[in-house]
Amino acid sequence: MDIINDIELTEYFSLYEFECPCCKRVMLSPDLFARLNHLRMVINRPIYINSGYRCKEENHRVGGVPGSYHLLGMAVDIHVKDFLLYDLLLYAHEIGFNGIGYYEKKNFLHLDIRPGPKRVWKGSKLIGY
Ligand SMILES: [Zn+2]
Ligand SMILES: [Zn+2]
Repeated sequence: MDIINDIELTEYFSLYEFECPCCKRVMLSPDLFARLNHLRMVINRPIYINSGYRCKEENHRVGGVPGSYHLLGMAVDIHVKDFLLYDLLLYAHEIGFNGIGYYEKKNFLHLDIRPGPKRVWKGSKLIGY
């Protein structure tokens, strides 16, 4: 039987990697996806998607903020093995992700393509730009 969303989008990513874990629904912004592929090319290492699209229930379950860009297919949480998280942040910044959350302890970045001014935060603290 076919597995839903088992579709290779690029040589780097398949659609199921972005689906909501509870309902397998998925929304994926082309702009977010283009930037993610760009980041993947630049760092030349596999990018693991911890969280892509989330339905409302899932977002609530994981403690996401109510207006989370994950609900719109405009955000991903990622990690890269054996790669300095801060370097990843610098690359993501360069590539033009507008929202960047830096989660040092859990070793992942939140990346989104929100409109408007750039916002970079570490925990609950704004750190820049
Ligand atoms: Zn769901
Ligand atoms: Zn996130």
